[in-house]
Amino acid sequence: MADWPYNTSQWQRLRKAKLSASPVCHPCSLRGRAVPANTVDHVKAIASGGDPFPPLDQLMSMCPSCHAVKTAAVDKPGGDGVRFRGTGFDGLPVDPSHPFFGGDTPV
Ligand SMILES: [Zn+2]
Repeated sequence: MADWPYNTSQWQRLRKAKLSASPVCHPCSLRGRAVPANTVDHVKAIASGGDPFPPLDQLMSMCPSCHAVKTAAVDKPGGDGVRFRGTGFDGLPVDPSHPFFGGDTPV
């Protein structure tokens, strides 16, 4: 992933700031697991008109496996749009944008 904006120092600073503010994978934490994050994901993809350098609350810390799942579900053609698999302690899907909740809810 060396393409713009990931090859800029602005992104490197933003990524670092996000990982130090939120060092744990967000989807894993929804499932009650504390997994160190090493990936920072755009909540709204740049390809969908998202800000390449958004505020920290528009970024999500993720572990590599959650990021791979999310990329396949949302950023690739044929994905089902469910970014995070599984259910939380309450038995509900962990992904707020899961069709169960009736649509497109950010983060
Ligand atoms: Zn994870």
